[in-house]
Amino acid sequence: MYLVSLIKEKSEKLMTYDENNIFAKILKGEIPCKKIYEDKYIFSFHDINPQKKIHALVIPKGKYIDLDDFCINASANEMVGLFKGINIVAEMLGVSLKNGDGYRALSNIGKNGGQEVPHLHFHIFGGEKIGKMVE
Ligand code: 5GP
Repeated sequence: MYLVSLIKEKSEKLMTYDENNIFAKILKGEIPCKKIYEDKYIFSFHDINPQKKIHALVIPKGKYIDLDDFCINASANEMVGLFKGINIVAEMLGVSLKNGDGYRALSNIGKNGGQEVPHLHFHIFGGEKIGKMVE
């Protein structure tokens, strides 16, 4: 029973992924971006409208709408790949605790979370004090 509902949930989720969202187009190379890093699991680039001195985005290459979708449907390798990727990018940007003063990794989920682009992404804010966690 659990398996049936899991499969149903998977297919329903996949059907609602918007193949033409902006990040899908960036992944396909259809629109340009300032690329930071890419590997088998993730792609990272600078945000077009930076909110802090450093504002990067890290996205999985898989078609996941948001963190909920990712947690339900992604493979263990994809999950490790995404979180390792955030760390790799933070170090490349000089904001990780290994080589900098820290950063904030944040993912907005759905309407109340303020998500605008329906492809899972983590924002990486750094280069200065990020300030209050929520307004
Ligand atoms: P969300 O509100 O969905 O968490 O964040 C979406 C982010 O994507 C925003 O910070 C926005 O500035 C960024 N963004 C939207 N369109 C583009 C684009 O075409 N290129 C890049 N690099 N970033 C974008």
